[in-house]
Amino acid sequence: MALKKTLTIAGSDTSAGAGMQADLKTFQELNTYGIVALTSIVTMDEKTWSHDVTPIPFDVFEKQLETAISIGPDAVKTGMLGTQEIIKRAGEAFVESGADYFVVDPVMVCKGENEVLNPGNTDAMVEYLLPKATVVTPNLFEAGQLANLGTLKSIDDMKKAAEIIHQQGAAHVIIKGGKALDQDKSYDLYFDDKQFYQLTTDMFQQSYNHGAGCTFAAATTAYLANGKSPKDAVIAAKAFVASAIKNGWKMNDFVGPVDHGAFNRVEHIDVEVTEV
Ligand code: ADP
Repeated sequence: MALKKTLTIAGSDTSAGAGMQADLKTFQELNTYGIVALTSIVTMDEKTWSHDVTPIPFDVFEKQLETAISIGPDAVKTGMLGTQEIIKRAGEAFVESGADYFVVDPVMVCKGENEVLNPGNTDAMVEYLLPKATVVTPNLFEAGQLANLGTLKSIDDMKKAAEIIHQQGAAHVIIKGGKALDQDKSYDLYFDDKQFYQLTTDMFQQSYNHGAGCTFAAATTAYLANGKSPKDAVIAAKAFVASAIKNGWKMNDFVGPVDHGAFNRVEHIDVEVTEV
């Protein structure tokens, strides 16, 4: 059977734990053919690791989309988009591509940086991306921003946010509690329009987890492309990223990426699924 093709519309993380590098590595591990339309290039200061974001000129972004669409992706994922113009265009490109699945990772900050990249972008994601999304994968902060509920602190808060984000048009919502909710376990909340499910794994080390969010969304994209249902895709993606986080490693004094290949090379981790 032909390889399914998965397109990521995302930024380049030169340290290669997150961004389109994480997406391509994950696509490869999960047996899809990864394609990229690059929005920006993130570089790091070698002394402080502060980030510098260099946008790709819009006409070059557009040319990449034309090439990628002509290849015919089966699933499309978005990562760091950067501007409202790019957000709008990414939503249109998904429709033009004819792909079956659209995974929206509503990236709002670069990890390690506190500044929200551009507040107006949240409204643009709600307007142009969520109504088309098969699955949207916000973390707690991003879900609070999208739903306009501020800081989410509990599973009940996550349920409220998931309902609002679903009403905004996303067919399926997974809010990543991750490390922010509890110290012992890692909880995510999935909502499929009818029922809430809590996905739980053990909590692994938290120092070397750069790229976890991108890897989770990319794994969801690859599993969808290869035929899993949205619910089974997010459960499998949580298992995939849990192995990657458990095997995260120290790159330097500032950052440690997840090991994108750990699921295939090292170990599988159980995900507990409960209705809540
Ligand atoms: P983001 O990078 O978007 O903030 P997260 O890192 O919060 O995303 O989450 C990505 C996935 O990894 C989620 O399924 C989350 O629950 C899980 N996760 C994050 N940190 C840990 C950890 N230390 N141990 C186990 N799972 C984790």
